[in-house]
Amino acid sequence: MLSWDDEATPAAPAPKAAAPEQQTRLQTQEVALNPALVSKPAAATDETARRVNAADKRIINGQTDVNQLVPFKYKWAWDKYLAGCANHWMPQEINMQRDIELWKNPNGLSEDERRLVKRNLGFFVTADSLAANNIVLGTYRHITAPECRQYLLRQAFEEAIHTHAYQYIVESLGLDEGEIFNAYNEVESIRDKDQFLIPFIDVLTNPEFKTGTTEADQTLLRSLIVFACLMEGLFFYVGFTQILALGRQNKMMGAAEQYQYILRDESMHCNFGIDLINTIKMENPHLWTPEFRDEIKSLFLRAVELEYRYAEDTMPRGVLGLNAPMFKGYLRFIANRRAQQIGLETLFPQEENPFPWMSEMIDLKKERNFFETRVIEYQTGGALSWE
Ligand code: FE
Repeated sequence: MLSWDDEATPAAPAPKAAAPEQQTRLQTQEVALNPALVSKPAAATDETARRVNAADKRIINGQTDVNQLVPFKYKWAWDKYLAGCANHWMPQEINMQRDIELWKNPNGLSEDERRLVKRNLGFFVTADSLAANNIVLGTYRHITAPECRQYLLRQAFEEAIHTHAYQYIVESLGLDEGEIFNAYNEVESIRDKDQFLIPFIDVLTNPEFKTGTTEADQTLLRSLIVFACLMEGLFFYVGFTQILALGRQNKMMGAAEQYQYILRDESMHCNFGIDLINTIKMENPHLWTPEFRDEIKSLFLRAVELEYRYAEDTMPRGVLGLNAPMFKGYLRFIANRRAQQIGLETLFPQEENPFPWMSEMIDLKKERNFFETRVIEYQTGGALSWE
C-alpha cells in the first residue's frame, strides 16, 4: 500500500557539532563580544572574508553561505521566482457555478466524461502533495544555491495552491472525497504511476542521504530528472489535455480554467527543473556517464508506458474526440522534447504532436488567459507571459 506519512519520518538526528566554518564564526563573535578576550582590534578581515563571491556558488555541494541570496550567480532562477510571483492566482477566485450545474444535470455529461473527470482528479489530488513533499522534505536541503532555494520556496507554495484547486473542484462538485483522495491506493493506473515516483522522492527525504560522492550526486540528479521531466513534465500531461479538451467544448469551464493556471505554473516548474539539471551537469560533468544516460533513457520509456496505461484507463472507449492511441503519439512527442531538453538523444524519432492546440496553450505568449473569463490581476507592470 502506498503511504506518505510525514509522522512516520524518523525524528531529526541529534544536533551535530557546528561545522568548522560555523565554529570559526561563533568563536569570532565570542571574542568580539567579550572585551577581556580582545587583545587587538576586531579582526574585520575575518568577517569580510565571509562575503560571498558569485563565482564560488554551486548548485550542489556548494561551500558558500546559503543565506546570502546576492550576489546572484543563477539569474535564471531568480527570474523564474519573479515570474512565478507575477503569475499568482488563487482557486476560489474562479466561479464554479456552471460546472456545478452541469455536473448535477443527469444529462449534462456522459458516463465516460464523468469517469474521466473522477480518474483525472484521483491522480492530481495527491500528485501535487507528493511534489510538495519532494521539494520541502527532500530537494531543498540538497541545493546550495540560494537563488534556486528561493524559487523552490515559491514552487512549494504553488504546489499547495494546486492541491487546494483540486480540493475546491472536488468540494464544488460534491464528489466522494474518500474515493478521490484515496484513488492513488485504489486505482491501479494511478497507483502504478505513484509507485514508480515515490522511491525517487523517498531517497531524497531520507535524513541519512547526503550529496558529495559521485554515487550520491547521481542519485540526486536522477531524482531531479524523474521529478521535472517525468512527473511534472510527462505524468501531468494526459490529465491536463483531458480537462482542457472538456473546456474547449464548453464543459467544466471553471475546472478547465483552474487547470490552465496550473499548467502555466507546472510548465515553469518543469523548465526550472530542466535548468537546474543542466546546470548541475555543467558543474559536474563526471556525473553524466554513458551508463547513467542509459539508465535515464529506460526510466523515460517506463514512464511513457505507465502514462499510456493511465490514458487507456481514463478513456477506455474514446471521449471528447480523444482516445488513448492519440495519447501514445503525444506522450512520445513530449518524452522526445524532455530528453532533448536535458541533452539526451530523441527516444522516438519523427513523432509529431497530435494536439498542436496544447502547445499553443503552453508555449505562446498570451495577453489574456485562453478562456478569457478572467483578466489576471496579479500582474504588476508587465504583460502576462506564458512559458
Ligand atoms: Fe509542480
